[in-house]
Amino acid sequence: MDDCIFCKIISGDIPSDIIYRDDEVIAFRDVNPVAPTHILIVPVEHLVTTLDIPDVNTSLTNKMIQTANRLANQEGISEDGYRLVINCGEQGGQVVKHLHMHLIGGRHLSSSLG
Ligand code: AMP
Repeated sequence: MDDCIFCKIISGDIPSDIIYRDDEVIAFRDVNPVAPTHILIVPVEHLVTTLDIPDVNTSLTNKMIQTANRLANQEGISEDGYRLVINCGEQGGQVVKHLHMHLIGGRHLSSSLG
């Protein structure tokens, strides 16, 4: 997608602090972190929201969660705990229209989600 900022990060047209990539997912540090660890796990394929994940494709969601868990371990936040968030659509607070999961941790997070 020509006008998608995350596609541009994936293609290397925009620099980013990439900490993991393979054929299916890429992970890079959020440019505006809300906690000491704030990483985005992003499918390489341009899907807009979770609604675009085909019913049959459980492997992508598994892959995103497994990647987040591994990076949490790498960041040293596994034991204390962390938050995985996917914002979906306008009222869900999604700003970048390329599916992504936030991995947030490294400080105590509020239990409020609203
Ligand atoms: P969301 O509100 O769920 O769409 O989150 C989008 C996230 O992308 C925000 O936390 C932004 O700070 C982050 N973001 C936007 N542009 C970039 C960028 N170029 N590099 C890294 N993170 C970005």
